[in-house]
Amino acid sequence: MTAAPSVAQVRFAAERERMAAEIVAMARETGSETGRPAFSDRVMAAMRTVPRHRFVPQSLAVSAYENRPLAIGDGQTISQPYIVALMTELLDPKPGDVVLEVGTGSGYQAAVLAEIVADVYTIEIVESLGRKAAAILSELGYTNVITRIGDGYNGWKEQAPFDGILVTAAPVEVPQPLIDQLKPGARLVIPVGGRFDVQDLLVIEKKADGSTLTRHTIPVRFVPLTRERR
Ligand code: SAH
Repeated sequence: MTAAPSVAQVRFAAERERMAAEIVAMARETGSETGRPAFSDRVMAAMRTVPRHRFVPQSLAVSAYENRPLAIGDGQTISQPYIVALMTELLDPKPGDVVLEVGTGSGYQAAVLAEIVADVYTIEIVESLGRKAAAILSELGYTNVITRIGDGYNGWKEQAPFDGILVTAAPVEVPQPLIDQLKPGARLVIPVGGRFDVQDLLVIEKKADGSTLTRHTIPVRFVPLTRERR
């Protein structure tokens, strides 16, 4: 027998629905730039399911379903829900896919992907964040998320090639190892630009012959992709 949902759970579920409605409206407004005026049922179902309040510091749980980024410690942020939904949509994830995320952060984006695909490999360079994300993902039963601490610039060679790669920190240029680790037909969704600039959210598709096709979508603002000190 499952226990009846608590008052808090009911409230969070209602807030998640409101958040989903805001994402739908924002997708429509930005559709001409992103090419996706309506997100797929798959993506929206994931956004309606993942308990975002569990991925933010407890003191911010009341704000978890506001459509904005939130601070998660170590100078890092959990992305705005609309951006999480958009990046997931642009990746075109399918149920059997194996995908890579660079920049685990809170683990929220990884959980959204894990609702849709078979396996999610995710890399975080800040050890404390990576550990915290791994703990909450396992507590919530996301056994199909595999975490690692390290520099995601180099991708995850042992598990490559991937059906899709999503990067949630911004490099100045597209890392070649990530292109190399895409299957033919797969996509890389990545913000690219300077540290103090607004970045460009790119969708890079790898063709069957290995060449790439790059599409610009909207301006975004992510934390920089940092590199491991050697
Ligand atoms: N996807 C996250 C938000 C990411 S914030 C979420 O859903 O919460 C960006 C994260 O990328 C930060 O945690 C930052 O530490 C991490 N990061 C920055 N450079 C990185 C690198 N080279 N490899 C892996 N992670 C990196």
